[in-house]
Amino acid sequence: VERPRPLVAGNWKMNGLKASEKVLTEIQEGFVAALRSKVDMAICPPATLIAQLAEQAEGSGIAIGGQDCHARESGAFTGDISAEMLADAGATCVLAGHSERRQYHGETDADVAAKAQAAHRAGLVAIVCVGETREEREAGRTLDVVRTQLKGSVPAGSNSTNLVVAYEPVWAIGTGLTPTAADVAEVHAAIRAALRVLVGEAEQDKVRILYGGSVKPSNAAELMAVENVDGALVGGASLVAADFLGIAGAY
Ligand code: PEP
Repeated sequence: VERPRPLVAGNWKMNGLKASEKVLTEIQEGFVAALRSKVDMAICPPATLIAQLAEQAEGSGIAIGGQDCHARESGAFTGDISAEMLADAGATCVLAGHSERRQYHGETDADVAAKAQAAHRAGLVAIVCVGETREEREAGRTLDVVRTQLKGSVPAGSNSTNLVVAYEPVWAIGTGLTPTAADVAEVHAAIRAALRVLVGEAEQDKVRILYGGSVKPSNAAELMAVENVDGALVGGASLVAADFLGIAGAY
């Protein structure tokens, strides 16, 4: 089967001011034709920077995305941002259910599905994040947890053009720890199998499944070579242009 085109996506989390345009400039300069021919690239900056960076990135082939959205289109939801607003600002994708949202904002699988559905309504690609905690892995529950999250978080109407799945073990995020290649292969295979039911036989092998959690230039080649790993979701290393480009260069 033909492999999906890899996607290397950066999650800046709550980092970045207007001056961070310099990081995007460096990434743009390094995203040369040879690299661009092999991988898609996206950056999810804080919402305050989306309009500015989307304008800057226009024509560069680098997509700009949100880190979260509200399920509703508009209304009395102080502090929240709708998927339509992200799209209006120039975003073309949005993370849904990042573990920090699940952990610090109590987002449930149903919340994540509603957000991903809102992303689709607004024409955005939803990057749905799943992953087990350390306790869950140690209890041997990883595949169970990931399958349950996936089933509950991927909305009806998802397909290979509007859905990306990111497998991010919670214990690997920002810790420098990564699962073994064999562990990543096992979880990604289980996600691929679950996608058969969620998006259908014709679409399941085209949906990109990203690995996320302490990806850096030094481990990217090994992780990206794993079967069913169709790219990376990168936190810390996406704030440094050379590191982010180094990870994309693993392809
Ligand atoms: C993330 O938060 O999506 C992530 C993968 O973070 P890091 O790369 O810093 O582990």
